[in-house]
Amino acid sequence: MSEDSLWTEDLKRRTGLLRESLECHRIDGLLLTSEANVRYLTGFSGSESAVFFSARRTVLVTDFRYVEEARETCPLAEVVRHSRGLMDALAREARRSRAKRLGFDPAQFTVIQARALRKALRGASLVARPGLVEELRGVKSAREVAAIEEALRVAERAYVMLWRRLRPGMTEMDVASELDYIMRRRLGAQGSAFETIVAFDDHASQPHAKPGSRRIRNDGVILIDWGARKGGYNCDLTRTSSLGTMPKKALKARELVIEAQRRAIAAIRPGAALRDVDGVARRFLVSRGYGRAFGHGLGHGVGLEIHELPTLGRRWKGTLRSGMVVTVEPGVYLPGEFGVRIEDMVLVTGAGARVLSSQSIE
Ligand code: ZN
Ligand code: ZN
Repeated sequence: MSEDSLWTEDLKRRTGLLRESLECHRIDGLLLTSEANVRYLTGFSGSESAVFFSARRTVLVTDFRYVEEARETCPLAEVVRHSRGLMDALAREARRSRAKRLGFDPAQFTVIQARALRKALRGASLVARPGLVEELRGVKSAREVAAIEEALRVAERAYVMLWRRLRPGMTEMDVASELDYIMRRRLGAQGSAFETIVAFDDHASQPHAKPGSRRIRNDGVILIDWGARKGGYNCDLTRTSSLGTMPKKALKARELVIEAQRRAIAAIRPGAALRDVDGVARRFLVSRGYGRAFGHGLGHGVGLEIHELPTLGRRWKGTLRSGMVVTVEPGVYLPGEFGVRIEDMVLVTGAGARVLSSQSIE
């Protein structure tokens, strides 16, 4: 089968599963605006478009800039061009299908859009049904896993190339731009999956540090959190390293973080509770005196977006399922001293877990 027809198989399966779920959510249509959800259901990769979805129809509503591209790349969707606004056209398609109860995700519509929609629907009701497509997106097909692995290979190669260029005196900003440049220009990524984090020494104690003007010291801590986007799919990795030898305390913390990660990955299998997997890493770090130094969740799903379901965290209900792809990223952050985080990507398989990223890269 060709590449395209493989994706068509994926589209058929996704829309089929979503159709099955309409009835049990007591709706006869769904309105979607998020770029990732639109892409997931139609294959369309443009922006500012929307989907009306029902038991019989998948309608992609877009504007004149995208109509041609949409007709070429969305084999299973009806493509409709709007001229009087996205919401107006969505409502028109819903009326044509005689849909009475329409699900939507309030978080993905502006107040102005929701108001316009209500008015244009003329009597059909709008009910909140958030997360239906996001739920489906949590479980990846073989083709999606392959796309994520392609993004990972780009990110990993870029990291190796970057390290050959690192020199004392380079700033965080220098390093972040160099890495972005390599991924995009040298290795053919669409871009970075998110704003690259490069943080040295005590700056690394902020988990989402913005690269600034700190300079690399020979025996300092270098934390890099980066990812590539390729074919629409993202990846997410973190390494903490040094040009020379890290301070002893940071080195020890790094060993503990790696061990916490190893234990959490060993706990990953279908049916494992999301908070239990988080708990395995957290309990270990607590037992070594670093409980309070690990202030964020253990990991998250990655796919068309950088943060997807499921979330591995203390407050999350639910369990892992085969086909989910998650990051496992424990960390230890000591304000004023240093931060250490190691992040890899794992596929939940029938048997347990397969690490998708290359853990041999330091
Ligand atoms: Zn990350
Ligand atoms: Zn992450």
